[in-house]
Amino acid sequence: MGDKLKIAVIGSGISGISVARMLSDSCDITVFEGAERIGGLIKCKDVDGNLYHQVGGHVFNSKNQNVLDWFWSFFDKDLEFVKATRYAKIWLNGLLIGYPIENHIYQLEPVLVEKIIGELLEIKNAPSVQPPGNFCEFLLNTFGQTLFDVYFKPYNNKLWGQSLEDIPLEWLEGKLPMPDITEVILSNIKREEESDMVHATFFYPKKGGSQFIVNRLAEGLEIKTSARIGRITSKATGVDVGGEYFDRVVYTGDVRKLSSMLAGFDVTVTSAAKQNQHWKSRATSNVFCAMDANELSWMYLPEENTKAHRVIYTGNFSPSNNKAGQHTCVVEFSGEVELAEMLEQIKSLPGNLRPLASNFEANSYIIHEADTKEKIDMLRAALEKKHVYLLGRFAEWEYYNMDKCIESGFRLRDQILA
Ligand SMILES: Cc1cc2nc3c(=O)[nH]c(=O)nc-3n(C[C@H](O)[C@H](O)[C@H](O)COP(=O)(O)OP(=O)(O)OC[C@H]3O[C@@H](n4cnc5c(N)ncnc54)[C@H](O)[C@@H]3O)c2cc1C
Repeated sequence: MGDKLKIAVIGSGISGISVARMLSDSCDITVFEGAERIGGLIKCKDVDGNLYHQVGGHVFNSKNQNVLDWFWSFFDKDLEFVKATRYAKIWLNGLLIGYPIENHIYQLEPVLVEKIIGELLEIKNAPSVQPPGNFCEFLLNTFGQTLFDVYFKPYNNKLWGQSLEDIPLEWLEGKLPMPDITEVILSNIKREEESDMVHATFFYPKKGGSQFIVNRLAEGLEIKTSARIGRITSKATGVDVGGEYFDRVVYTGDVRKLSSMLAGFDVTVTSAAKQNQHWKSRATSNVFCAMDANELSWMYLPEENTKAHRVIYTGNFSPSNNKAGQHTCVVEFSGEVELAEMLEQIKSLPGNLRPLASNFEANSYIIHEADTKEKIDMLRAALEKKHVYLLGRFAEWEYYNMDKCIESGFRLRDQILA
């Protein structure tokens, strides 16, 4: 025990709990969580016998075999999880169009189909064009004006609440669809259902949703809840967190708040930590609803006359998510939307939605600026010399899903143990 590195992990979301788990055999770990319960964004709670994902509707998958191997070492894949097929639709003009829209152009009105196919062929045959400079140009260059106007522009405007020209492409690196136009056209001819596509599956716990995942990973760890850390003080060989000495600290909270938490650090650290305080994030508001039965997993709502941007049919992910005889879903709105307005809005959505609960999450999506990566790298390098490590969606300011949080945890584990 005495020779083990003593590590404080600030935050008990998937990032904090995963890295704590990865280090717990060889280090002495304490996790500090400001909230009453662990889980961060992947928290779920029971509402009258139904499982409510308070943010989003978290499903799991990964393209990284190391992440999958590590993850499945804690669970019985067959007994404890369902492997579900993604079944998403886009609600447009009162019709349910297949997802992704570019593979289901044939379901749109004939006049649109003709225009869209014409534009796609023009893109395909165009001599090489300048690489896109921002998200708006990327969408236009990739899908053409009509698909952009009908779907990509209104949907993304709702989601990001800002001009798509202001969204730098670095932010979306590796996350953007890169459809090949020949394949898009072929999909429309072959009329493949989404369920035929290889990537369209995910894992979901049979009981307890994403809360089950974080609870299992947290078993046996020392976790202090309702323990918000307000100060990290630099010491000669480590740090002081909450009045206790640690050799290292892993911070998984909001990187914009770090500057006001740091004490006794040199100017390289404090000036690097100040550079990000103006960065913007995007909130989400949602209403958890009972609904009439359907088979969908997600429905996207691009139209401007509906404020919500998607419905997540969490009740369809596992039968145990619903009270007997009931079906449930989460209607998601981007930004802060008053409850009264959300309740009014859900009346116009299909499915006979009846509200059960609601939530607001200020920090849901990070918004990158052109130099975000550079600034984070600079801060990371300065902090690491002083035994402080950044990890997770809001600390690294990366558009991570759960699996990427775990992957980043591996990097940090190797670095700390090296
Ligand atoms: C709407 C939505 C849907 C999503 N859907 C999916 C999905 O289906 N699949 C998927 O893989 N990913 C999904 N994601 C992404 C996923 O939620 C995140 O990648 C992941 O939950 C981030 O985990 P984290 O631990 O980095 O951060 P968080 O979950 O934010 O955890 C940080 C924790 O730190 C605590 N904390 C912060 N500051 C302090 C402090 N000073 N002292 C103590 N504690 C502190 C917070 O209370 C919090 O519990 C979705 C995200 C959103 C917003």
